[in-house]
Amino acid sequence: MTRDDLKTLIRTVPDFPAAGIQFRDITTLIADGRGLSATIDHLARLAPPGTASVAGIEARGFIFGTALAARLGVGFIPVRKAGKLPVETIGQDYALEYGEARVEIDPTLLSPGEQVLLVDDLIATGGTALAAAQLLRRAGARCDNALFVIDLPELGGADRLRDAGIASHALMDFA
Ligand code: IMP
Repeated sequence: MTRDDLKTLIRTVPDFPAAGIQFRDITTLIADGRGLSATIDHLARLAPPGTASVAGIEARGFIFGTALAARLGVGFIPVRKAGKLPVETIGQDYALEYGEARVEIDPTLLSPGEQVLLVDDLIATGGTALAAAQLLRRAGARCDNALFVIDLPELGGADRLRDAGIASHALMDFA
């Protein structure tokens, strides 16, 4: 399946979670066996050589990130929402459109200088991915690459990541 084929499997839900927002829903993509498999194939082709682990952002980044890590034969690092990990964590606060959020990791899962590939379903403003990358870097890992299934380029997330030294790719764009 081509990336254009995969794009047809994304469902667009108008006015979710608020009026005027077009929510790009990946559940229709992952419910399609060929679509899910092809998505992981495409992501795996984009994974840089030397990737030592994949970090996925809760919750939809877990779906693609875990499958990709298994395909690459590397470990998976969960970047969790606040208060979920049962051990001592490091956390990073970041701004949402309305309010604040926080992501956390267990830094003991990472080795110094380990090359971590960041994965999420979608990049919009880039705030979530940037917070996750900062956290991985604070834990001593290298985080110079990120993969997404969907990019909303008008919101400038990829540019923001580039300014932070992170090269990103997405399988499809929605204007
Ligand atoms: P950002 O921090 O503005 O880049 O927003 C990206 C985060 O919000 C990701 O974790 C996405 O899962 C989530 N997100 C934002 N918009 C959408 C959408 O239309 N569909 C699915 N997830 C979204």
